[in-house]
Amino acid sequence: MTRGLDLSIIVPVYNEEKNLRQLYEEITAAGKKLNRTYEIILVDDGSRDGSLAVLRAIQASDARVRIFRLRKNFGQTAALSAGFDNARGEIIVTLDSDLENDPNDIGLLVQKIEEGYDLVSGWRKKRWKRHFFTRRLPSLTANWLISRITKVHLRDYGCTLKAFRREVIKNIHLYGEMHRFIPAIAATIGVSIAEVPVNFRPRIHGKSKYGFSRSIRVFLDLLTVKFLLNYATRPLQIFGLMGLISGAAGLVIGLILSYQRLVLKVGIGNRPLLLLAILLLVVGFQFVTMGLLGEIMVRTYHEAVEKHIYVVREVIESPSSETE
Ligand code: UDP
Ligand code: MG
Repeated sequence: MTRGLDLSIIVPVYNEEKNLRQLYEEITAAGKKLNRTYEIILVDDGSRDGSLAVLRAIQASDARVRIFRLRKNFGQTAALSAGFDNARGEIIVTLDSDLENDPNDIGLLVQKIEEGYDLVSGWRKKRWKRHFFTRRLPSLTANWLISRITKVHLRDYGCTLKAFRREVIKNIHLYGEMHRFIPAIAATIGVSIAEVPVNFRPRIHGKSKYGFSRSIRVFLDLLTVKFLLNYATRPLQIFGLMGLISGAAGLVIGLILSYQRLVLKVGIGNRPLLLLAILLLVVGFQFVTMGLLGEIMVRTYHEAVEKHIYVVREVIESPSSETE
């Protein structure tokens, strides 16, 4: 793969026929001011309207445009991921194709990266000024919750307009609806993150692809992210601890009951505590076993994908030691 471009601009597209032309024009206009070499990667995520035709026409007139057409609608995260895998730029920028993000802000993000940040995220500061209870409050709550749980404090997790240093994004693997958690995932490999206010323009053509069910999916993904971030490399630490606590409680109750039965000779057949003790012991045993299984899976996973448990930032060595 050829490299050496300054910038890859990645845009996921799903049924956006009316927005694409203007989007392309805005990106190229903004691109001119950047004074950098760039490519535009448009990922067609199985659109069912005329998006593909518009994309083809755009590509035919501009060699900087590359289209990746997915076989079906895999979702925004997958579409972005396809873009990341194929990007050749040193800096990678993502934005939505519905014109909600303003391509004029790309320069701002790139500038921050060049200041030394590894990841720069847009903050749609002026969004939802009016709908306080239906829009702004839920959004504030979600961002607060995600920030607290992941310990990476951002004011706007939902903004697709972001910029990354190439090495950062190439080290991140995405699943589910995880694209919004990229900053949190990236933080685990030790990156510096900045957030800059960006413009937000409500969608005019087409409609949002998400409804209320997204909140639930995002919440479940948040659980996954939290678990993966904290315990993915040591599952026994969490399951084992729960198992030990439960098992120990069961054991104590069991011993008390045994003492009553054997020494004091009181019947324990009608004691609900007996059931509880058995339950706690079994659950405790299962948790420990689950933790151990987890340990095996983690090892298989790291070896199967040759994933290391560390990420190198830079290698500093004398030229002579390069021969290997
Ligand atoms: N998108 C996509 N695949 C999907 C859903 C959305 O590529 O399955 C794209 C969509 O074309 C848009 C961006 O992701 O460019 C954000 O989608 P949308 O505007 O519907 O989300 P919202 O702004 O409402 O969060
Ligand atoms: Mg949108």
